[in-house]
Amino acid sequence: MDNEMDDESYRLMFGNYEKYLDFITKKLDSFFEKQKPYIFCKKGCAKCCKNAEFPFSLIEIQYALYGYGQLPDDIKKITEDNLTKILEEKKKFKGEKFYYNCPFLVNDVCSIYKYRGIICRSFGLIYSVKDKNPQVPFCCFEGQNYSNVLDEKTKQLSSKKVKELGLETEPIAFNASYNALTAASFEETFNFSFGDKKPMIEWLEE
Ligand code: SF4
Ligand code: SF4
Repeated sequence: MDNEMDDESYRLMFGNYEKYLDFITKKLDSFFEKQKPYIFCKKGCAKCCKNAEFPFSLIEIQYALYGYGQLPDDIKKITEDNLTKILEEKKKFKGEKFYYNCPFLVNDVCSIYKYRGIICRSFGLIYSVKDKNPQVPFCCFEGQNYSNVLDEKTKQLSSKKVKELGLETEPIAFNASYNALTAASFEETFNFSFGDKKPMIEWLEE
């Protein structure tokens, strides 16, 4: 990836993608705002960047790598070391699903925050999935988002707890799955292409 691209090349490559990002980020911000009483995200909580798989499209990984190219050398080196370690572990891995901490995570903070992926922007909300029950973020079960209305016994969100807390709005499932946020209709509206989609680590091992 050429990180020395001039302004015009940058505009051609990422200009329309950034318009799309601006649109969905505002949308997601409004979802988070609506769920404020249930959201406990804060800087330094990076559970959702760890021990997971991260779907990334081609444009997302190109943008993330551009962000990496802007990092100071010492931080760059940490992310490179992270990646080397992950790839070594992946080689030895014999199981079905390989999970890892995102290599861009440095001291529990995203080193490429402006350039992070779509999944990184939506995690923490309840989201709807066609023909399935709404998906509650895993951190709900670790004392984070929505945990204030989690019934410990049933492991379900509890309307009773919502009432007890005097909250006006029940938790809402948004249409904010990765597939919904990267639907082809956005490519037409904003005139760009997501390209192939695959796990982040598969892009990075190329
Ligand atoms: S979504 Fe959950 S795990 Fe991620 S930062 Fe927010 S509270 Fe932490
Ligand atoms: S790109 Fe940043 S926000 Fe996304 S998983 Fe990696 S460290 Fe977390």
